[in-house]
Amino acid sequence: MGDQDGGGGSGKPTLTEEQWRARLTPERFEVLRRAGTEAPWTGEYVHNHSDGTYTCAGCGAVLFDSKTKFDSGSGWPSFYEPAVAAAVEVRQDTSHGMVRTEVVCRACGGHLGHVFDDGPAPTGQRYCINSLALDFEPAKGD
Ligand code: FE
Repeated sequence: MGDQDGGGGSGKPTLTEEQWRARLTPERFEVLRRAGTEAPWTGEYVHNHSDGTYTCAGCGAVLFDSKTKFDSGSGWPSFYEPAVAAAVEVRQDTSHGMVRTEVVCRACGGHLGHVFDDGPAPTGQRYCINSLALDFEPAKGD
């Protein structure tokens, strides 16, 4: 966690499965590299209301800003937009008998969660993200 160089920044994962296993906790590996989903209401950031920045637990890329976080009632941290549009990439996901839009970290290819069209203004989007895929950097106090 916190290593800024994990994904190479080229949009292609550069680590092998074994390297990812060595780098991540088993729980984080399951989410980020196996597209797993943490159980609702179990993630450490569901109820985090602090100001700061959410980064990728795989590679350290800045993904979401606390200013866009809202209480969705879903049990997962929810944001109405990424911190930088280019930080994430979306893919159609037809697993589990559903058609959903998967959200992945562009820098390392790590699975983050899914995005839905039932979010609040101003975007109407709900990025439903696993806490296990994120690290949180509190805003610097002054
Ligand atoms: Fe990443």
